[in-house]
Amino acid sequence: MPIDPKQPYDENNIFAKILRGELPCTKVYEDDHVLAFNDIRPQAPVHVLVIPKGAYVSWDDFTAKADDAEIAAFMRAVGNVTRQLELDGPGYRLMVNMGTNGHQEVPHLHVHIFGGRQFFQMIC
Ligand code: IMP
Repeated sequence: MPIDPKQPYDENNIFAKILRGELPCTKVYEDDHVLAFNDIRPQAPVHVLVIPKGAYVSWDDFTAKADDAEIAAFMRAVGNVTRQLELDGPGYRLMVNMGTNGHQEVPHLHVHIFGGRQFFQMIC
């Protein structure tokens, strides 16, 4: 079920539990600001989720409330992950689902990184 993007942050959402080490993940990258791990139901040969360590429900919540340094660090980290995975040569796709219409299911901001094959026109 997609989330209401205006809901308060739920400290017990799946990604909050992963951040606290209460649930496992296959980590691919971590720094002071973000954690990146493999999606549990991959939709491509490479399917990684990048999440901020701060408590943000959605892209909208993050871009409204995070300070510029935190936003910059998050963007930089997404690039670090794609380069670490050597996706920068062949290319990749980024996706953020936001709220009900975006069909966001987990209420902690995450950027999807898809790679390992060529993607065609936008999916719907
Ligand atoms: P959304 O629709 O953008 O919210 O996507 C949520 C993503 O989280 C989906 O691609 C799920 O497969 C993924 N996911 C849900 N639970 C877990 C988990 O425990 N570990 C890794 N990925 C997860």
